[in-house]
Amino acid sequence: MAWNFSTEPEFQEKLDWMREFVAAEIEPMDLVFRKPGDPFDPRSPARKAMAPLKQIVRDKGLWACHLGPDLGGQGFGQLHLGLMNEILGRSRFAPTVFGTQAPDTGNAEILARFGTEEQKAAYLAPLLDGEIVSCFSMTEPQAGADPGEFTCAAELVRGEWIINGEKWFASHADMAEFLIVMCITDPEVAVHEGSTTIIVPRSAPGLEIIRNTAVGPKDEIGSGVHGYLRFNNCRVPHENALGPVGGGFKVAQSRLGGGRIHHAMRTVGMLNKAMDMMCERAVSRVTKGERLADKQMVQEKIADSYTQILQFRLHVLYGAWLLDQDKGYTHRVRREISAIKAAMPGVLKDVIYRALHLHGSLGMSNETPLMDMWQYVPEMGIVDGPTEVHKVTVAKDILRNVMPSPGTFPTYFVPTRRAEAALKFADFLEEDPL
Ligand SMILES: Cc1cc2nc3c(=O)[nH]c(=O)nc-3n(C[C@H](O)[C@H](O)[C@H](O)COP(=O)(O)OP(=O)(O)OC[C@H]3O[C@@H](n4cnc5c(N)ncnc54)[C@H](O)[C@@H]3O)c2cc1C
Repeated sequence: MAWNFSTEPEFQEKLDWMREFVAAEIEPMDLVFRKPGDPFDPRSPARKAMAPLKQIVRDKGLWACHLGPDLGGQGFGQLHLGLMNEILGRSRFAPTVFGTQAPDTGNAEILARFGTEEQKAAYLAPLLDGEIVSCFSMTEPQAGADPGEFTCAAELVRGEWIINGEKWFASHADMAEFLIVMCITDPEVAVHEGSTTIIVPRSAPGLEIIRNTAVGPKDEIGSGVHGYLRFNNCRVPHENALGPVGGGFKVAQSRLGGGRIHHAMRTVGMLNKAMDMMCERAVSRVTKGERLADKQMVQEKIADSYTQILQFRLHVLYGAWLLDQDKGYTHRVRREISAIKAAMPGVLKDVIYRALHLHGSLGMSNETPLMDMWQYVPEMGIVDGPTEVHKVTVAKDILRNVMPSPGTFPTYFVPTRRAEAALKFADFLEEDPL
């Protein structure tokens, strides 16, 4: 198949409509609904404001585009979703209005893939309709990046799972109708074989939210949307296991790949928004008799940002394309998603810092979106696994099939290679090259 960087005209029309709709109808919500949970919380007044917008998206046939037609989505595929998410990434509310918000997208994916018919009817159907919110809880206070350190355990006693332990940074736990909790069910074996994902209704007896945690310093302790949870002999029926008992790690892994690349797609949108601001500022502000845009050091910032955003964007779209080709998380897809995930905080840091810096004191104020964006820099380096862990995945995969040098000197050792080349071209050489 030929390399191709173009978008079909019919799909481009949809993207053009989305761009206008997000700018005119959704981005203004970011300015008035400021609480961390507003885009997700069914109790937020933003919910009512979003309802007619969601209907417009449904009527346009653009609802829940991450899903295949069997689940009520459009089946556009990941590459098209990438182009759409670039637009949705410009607003905190846009993913919810289009039915593609994390962590519900990933949770819907594993319910669809591993859920029983009863689980799908009870949880997947209302989740896809956008009626309820869900949570995925894996991280613990003492362990995040290394699941081998998880201790929150579930034991099967007389037909019920009895869960004990703590979980940390469980996004949207407080407002969720149900949580998917990764529990150790066999401590005698490695976590890859000894954990199970279990559906825990928010109302389950013994599920306690110790407190909510916020990202950043602005909100009061105890506010925010990330739950610190304790399970005190929390009981759920044994049929609430999602996927095979002992297979929780695989279930969790299968949702994280999509989540990571979707974050990256939305990050492209945020980067473009920062770039737009940087460019407007550069052509508007005059100092020492000329526009910032006329100063070479500013031009360098614009050029470097443009190049980095484009490189990152092409990488994300390539990852999405691979996912469409392989229809799942193959080796090469996993490697690419990890490489994209590891690159994300770096490009965010560079571009948003330059945009902030060019705005001077205004950039530092709370009167542009830039300081809100700045918070995403470290966040994107941590959420869904720290950068280091993803770099390890990339490097291990690259090195998997690389052979060591056959002797003391490497295969590219010039004296040996030159001798071989001299033999090959002996008829044409006037002098001995050695
Ligand atoms: C906004 C946000 C939302 C989140 N939502 C959820 C959620 O909904 N559900 C959920 O379960 N979790 C969630 N998390 C938690 C997230 O998955 C973890 O924070 C992440 O996996 C890292 O775990 P940790 O915080 O325990 O850090 P640690 O595992 O303690 O890592 C801290 C640091 O140690 C270093 N490090 C760790 N491992 C290695 C290594 N192998 N090699 C080299 N250095 C290493 C890195 O510098 C790393 O940043 C969320 C986090 C954030 C910030």
